[in-house]
Amino acid sequence: MEAWQQFTQSAITLAAPTQPQEETRPTALAITKALRAQVRQVWRLPWENNWKEVWWRLLQHGVMGAGGHGWPMKRGTACPCGWQHSAASPRAAQALQLREHVFWTCTGASAIRRAIQHNLPVSVQLLPRNVWLLEQPCQTVRKEVWYVVCLAALTAMLRARGLMFSTLAMTGLEPAVVETKAVDLLLAPLKDFAACQGSVSSFSDLGQAHPFVYARPNGSLAVSLQLPA
Ligand SMILES: [Zn+2]
Repeated sequence: MEAWQQFTQSAITLAAPTQPQEETRPTALAITKALRAQVRQVWRLPWENNWKEVWWRLLQHGVMGAGGHGWPMKRGTACPCGWQHSAASPRAAQALQLREHVFWTCTGASAIRRAIQHNLPVSVQLLPRNVWLLEQPCQTVRKEVWYVVCLAALTAMLRARGLMFSTLAMTGLEPAVVETKAVDLLLAPLKDFAACQGSVSSFSDLGQAHPFVYARPNGSLAVSLQLPA
């Protein structure tokens, strides 16, 4: 529960880093209490559990290579994008900075966020809590579809970072290439979700105008993610 509380606190303060923690603590506590029911809903989603694991491990503060288990990057090393955690921070804080970087500000994560933002109404600003805590940003996206989008996004963000390390080692890092591949990594799980629902599912009534995934007239799903130019 302590890890969950810390996770919700990070998700809230990431968008407003100057806000004192005391002010956000009651909100974080309320969200943490509600997480248990949300976890149950996520595990019940008719989709392979391996797509849900990154989020689950994030909740436990256990994503290896992303600050999990309190491990920051090795001293003096940097992310392939050039980012480094603050050398002056204690190790525990560096691990949290690394998690925020991998799942929000790194090159691949940023491209994935832009792709998601592009499919939301212009008046809606995508916040870390929308993705990390699977909070619906608006009513135009059905709650369960939003869960799928977030689980896909978090999985893709982690995979994009792995890709950055291998790309850097092989050819040097081209941010534009990473951004394109990161969006492909977001598309893959969405396609997988759409494909495994069949023509009769609880999503068959989504309609053809639903963002991210839509239902064809025969009830089967397809991906409707629009990509920014
Ligand atoms: Zn980075």
